[in-house]
Amino acid sequence: STIRHFRHEYEVHIREKRCPACACNALFNAPCSHTCPAGTQVPQYIALISNRRFTDALRLIRDRNPFTSVCGRVCNAPCEDKCRRAQIDEPLSIRALKRFAADAASKGDLPLPSRRVSPASDKKVAIIGAGPAGLTAAYHLARMGYSPTVFEAESVAGGMLATAIPPYRLPRNVLEGEIEMIKSLGVDIKLNTRVDKAMFEKIRKDYDAVFIATGAHRGWKLGIPGEDLEGIYDAITFLKDVNLGRNTVKVGENVAVVGGGNSAIDAARTALRLGAKKVTILYRRLKEDMPAAPEEIHEAQVEGVEIRYLTVPVEAVGENGKVTALKCQLLQLAEFDKSGRRTPKPIEGSIFELPVDTVITAISQEPEIDYLSDDVKTRRSKAVEIDGSTMKTSAEGVFAGGDLVNDDWTVIAAIGDGIKAAISIDRYLGGTGELASDAAEIEIPPAPEDVDDIVETPRTLCNILPCEKRIGMEEVDLGYTREQALREAARCLRCDAGV
Ligand SMILES: Cc1cc2nc3c(=O)[nH]c(=O)nc-3n(C[C@H](O)[C@H](O)[C@H](O)COP(=O)(O)OP(=O)(O)OC[C@H]3O[C@@H](n4cnc5c(N)ncnc54)[C@H](O)[C@@H]3O)c2cc1C
Ligand code: SF4
Ligand code: SF4
Repeated sequence: STIRHFRHEYEVHIREKRCPACACNALFNAPCSHTCPAGTQVPQYIALISNRRFTDALRLIRDRNPFTSVCGRVCNAPCEDKCRRAQIDEPLSIRALKRFAADAASKGDLPLPSRRVSPASDKKVAIIGAGPAGLTAAYHLARMGYSPTVFEAESVAGGMLATAIPPYRLPRNVLEGEIEMIKSLGVDIKLNTRVDKAMFEKIRKDYDAVFIATGAHRGWKLGIPGEDLEGIYDAITFLKDVNLGRNTVKVGENVAVVGGGNSAIDAARTALRLGAKKVTILYRRLKEDMPAAPEEIHEAQVEGVEIRYLTVPVEAVGENGKVTALKCQLLQLAEFDKSGRRTPKPIEGSIFELPVDTVITAISQEPEIDYLSDDVKTRRSKAVEIDGSTMKTSAEGVFAGGDLVNDDWTVIAAIGDGIKAAISIDRYLGGTGELASDAAEIEIPPAPEDVDDIVETPRTLCNILPCEKRIGMEEVDLGYTREQALREAARCLRCDAGV
């Protein structure tokens, strides 16, 4: 029964020599690096920061992950959950240090990442979707000497980084800088090119391997009466519209957002920035159950977003075809379900009306897979089935990654998939699967020999833009100063050295 329930964990141990829970100490030295899906050399880049070698720190991170500045801002940082420093006081701010390295590096001294030409690099590779998964695969394939072509439906590259995550969390010049670096390696991105069934077939004929990374962009419906009234949008449509400047959605004064994940928080904070007077999030469970990052929930509340827990909409009410209110139901937590969480159950007689003029639904999304051929197997959730260690789908020469295959929708999981796909595609085409790397050239400062005198030191907090200065899409998290970064870097225990 353990194999049935923990099959993925067993497979990862055997095939990839990885222990996702960081319980098998024999498999790793530094739990942070082991947990990062991109395999970032965390203690090594922190040591470079400590030595004020910021450009080398960026080179080392970028060797695996082309989206250093992006991840320094929006990564969910699973590495921090496993940081050993937490056994003494608090985990390192690994993400904030990554951002500092990217911001502080001297761009003039930064060479382009090197190449290692694969024997198979005359083969043609197509990538569908220019999100973090697709562009990371393109980055590594280009460094292996391939000339990958990326087909992208939207007018911009970056996927959700460009179309969904708001600029006050991820300034667009930061994202564009990293995409330009990828393009300068010889990656051809064909924008405004939505791949349909016929085009997918043609791409498969014209290219030797195809990586599909088209994300999960179709928002789920609430399934309540009145849902088609004017003024009700799904979060992805809403955020895309705002971020791409299409101006087809209209935000009123009184906005309700339904959901508890990153999309819900981003939609709520964006609505405030577009002039909404009151924004209320309706969430069916409790604060601690919300999938959104705790710091994002906190900032939303600081900005004035109200969150009503244990509340769901049951009907949208309208006048002249336009939404005017949501009928909501209060819930209470009852018995535990299969996932170990308590099931929310309606409280009898608790329905109330919430006046609104705009509703944004952010309950979940699913992949749009209409363009795929029948030999690409998918699951009931519409996710594409893959072999997790090779990223191969059931169709010959077709690989897949990112939100299109994952349940865990994060930027760093998509980047990790892009790396695995590049390795696997090179092997499939006749190469060795060895990535180009500059890591050996970067001398890593040795770990201090004496670690007896560790003093409890709290984690260094980032500077945050005061609420009254949050005008428009100004970045809210301002990162570290040099002094703060050096103080935080000094907290690292250098677990890589096994001291
Ligand atoms: C509002 C919001 C906030 C988020 N915040 C965070 C966060 O803070 N931290 C975090 O780690 N993750 C966050 N995520 C999740 C993260 O953005 C995704 O997990 C990640 O972008 C997935 O990368 P991907 O490359 O698989 O797909 P995507 O980023 O979705 O990129 C897929 C690309 O494929 C293109 N495409 C789709 N269909 C076609 C087609 N038929 N032909 C051609 N191109 C096509 C799309 O236009 C898109 O550009 C957030 C997501 C949302 C929606
Ligand atoms: S203390 Fe340093 S090396 Fe150890 S897990 Fe934390 S960040 Fe990684
Ligand atoms: S990319 Fe994310 S998971 Fe990887 S080391 Fe950086 S913060 Fe941690």
